[in-house]
Amino acid sequence: MSDKSTILIVDDEIVSRYTVEALLSSEGYELVFAESGEEALEKAVELVPDLMLLDVMMPGMNGFEVCQLLRANPRLAELPVVMVTALDDRESRIKGIEAGADDFMSKPFDRAELRARIRTITRLNRYRRLVETEEKLAYLANYDPLTSLPNRNLLMERMRQTLGRASRNQQGVAVLVLDLDGFQMINDSLGHEVGDKMLQEVASRLTHTVSVGATVARLSGDEFVIMEEANDPVKQVSDIAQRVLDAISQFMMLNQHEIVITASLGISVFPSDGEEPSGLLKNANIALSRAKAEGKNTYQFFTGEMNTMALKRLILENQLRKVLERNELCLYYQPQVELASGRIVGLEALLRWQHPELGFVSPGQFISVAEEMGLIIPIGEWVLRTACIQNQIWQEAGLPPIRMSVNVSGRQFQDPGLLQMIKNVLVETGLNPIYLELELTESMLMEENINRKESVFAVLTQLQTMGIHIAIDDFGTGYSSLSYLKRFPLNTLKIDRSFVQDVNTNTDDAAITTAIIAMAHSLQLTVVAEGVETKEQLAFLEKRQCEIVQGYFFSPPISVKEMTKMLKQVNEKPFLFPSA
Ligand code: C2E
Ligand code: MG
Ligand code: MG
Repeated sequence: MSDKSTILIVDDEIVSRYTVEALLSSEGYELVFAESGEEALEKAVELVPDLMLLDVMMPGMNGFEVCQLLRANPRLAELPVVMVTALDDRESRIKGIEAGADDFMSKPFDRAELRARIRTITRLNRYRRLVETEEKLAYLANYDPLTSLPNRNLLMERMRQTLGRASRNQQGVAVLVLDLDGFQMINDSLGHEVGDKMLQEVASRLTHTVSVGATVARLSGDEFVIMEEANDPVKQVSDIAQRVLDAISQFMMLNQHEIVITASLGISVFPSDGEEPSGLLKNANIALSRAKAEGKNTYQFFTGEMNTMALKRLILENQLRKVLERNELCLYYQPQVELASGRIVGLEALLRWQHPELGFVSPGQFISVAEEMGLIIPIGEWVLRTACIQNQIWQEAGLPPIRMSVNVSGRQFQDPGLLQMIKNVLVETGLNPIYLELELTESMLMEENINRKESVFAVLTQLQTMGIHIAIDDFGTGYSSLSYLKRFPLNTLKIDRSFVQDVNTNTDDAAITTAIIAMAHSLQLTVVAEGVETKEQLAFLEKRQCEIVQGYFFSPPISVKEMTKMLKQVNEKPFLFPSA
């Protein structure tokens, strides 16, 4: 673009043309003239001027028609047009506006007015063009024109920002490098047009598969990168990776060809696999070549350890699906001992999974997975039924009736069928509801969702009305205050093992435990201390009038057979405490 603005002056009268030329000659514009509407359109197309000064009254094509035709041409639609009309001709001006004129002037021209108007309009127009050009350049510098995805440049920029934020917030970030399997063959056999369409389709599938905050970029050819913040790389990232592979491998219709393509993914994770964008990309690429070697349509983490964990998780999920039909679950029971009497007043039912090949899988490993899969609903029902049946069996065997505590996960409380399920189990097993206690965690009550809070509240109230006890498990690990808990119908508060552990060595834990017990009592809650292992801990708790204790000091969770024996023994001879 030359730095002079070009003005096209359209007028059939030679005197008018001379006048304008004289008035604008010293202003440094490039002046071009047309004597008719037809000539004006030709020159406008050829030159794309910065401004057109257009006389309305011309033989042949008049100014209105010229203006209308200009506006119909996409290249000239934005060209500023100043229409020259007879003085105060209101009707012409209205027609001019309809035809698309931007401004009006009338003859004879006033020198100062003409200069000022033209100066303003050309300046605005040049500015607009400059902005457009800069925007175009900025766009090309940061985006891939084929797919409209960020390019390497913008990806690196976003990575720097995201990694900076992640390290401040101590969060993880996953970098997934994707490469299509056999893309070259598609390009060679079906042509570049199909290849391009495929890349656009892949870009759109990726964008729809990842979460909103993620960045999807195209680096080159068929190489794409996804960057997403992730706190649990093994689970969250392997889920993303699998979703991406599934999305890509759906068939595509491209120019009447039905094509199936797969992709391979290499994954690196910040900060463990690198702290800089370039290092993370390099390691993700190393993982990518391993994924290709694995036989494509698969993903690999850079770290071997993470691959093992991802694989384990996959196996776990598959095995967990069959756990009920294969009858691999059983319950262990741990006694809850009343400090005043040394008697067993309750049992906590704790889930155990014995897998023929995986061996013993601890609840810490599989319960969260079962929750995510929704499997905790049928598993939870099995636990409740088994525990109630067992409690009934012990009572019928003549042992003193005691309360059975069953853990209930938050996910179960989202199930609208929970209440009915509990009622059914109690009817089926014939267990008196006063011998059942349900253990909930603090976080379940703390859920931000008001609606849920109400329904949890409603369910708890109904359960308590039936005579079932409600206990808060692992108290102290969440954020709730006792005054918050006061709103809920509760009977028992279980102090988390982490406080009990250090009551004799850590003054903070001692103070907190003391305060929790005192406040629980003021709310008429029974206190159970979890994880009691030593006689010193026991003495501490006894002194603060904690009612019930549970822990290895008395017994770890044990099988039905062992528990039957223990119940009989303790019934005859209650526990004796060294401190008492
Ligand atoms: P929890 O409900 O807090 O259960 C207490 C855990 O502490 C049990 O671990 C128990 O074996 C352990 N424990 C008891 N006394 C001691 C002690 O003196 N020292 C130490 N170090 N540990 C002790 P477990 O059986 O591995 O269960 C872990 C968690 O899994 C449970 O924590 C509970 O949240 C969950 N869970 C277990 N069974 C079920 C179930 O049937 N349903 C649901 N939803 N969750 C369950
Ligand atoms: Mg529990
Ligand atoms: Mg607990």
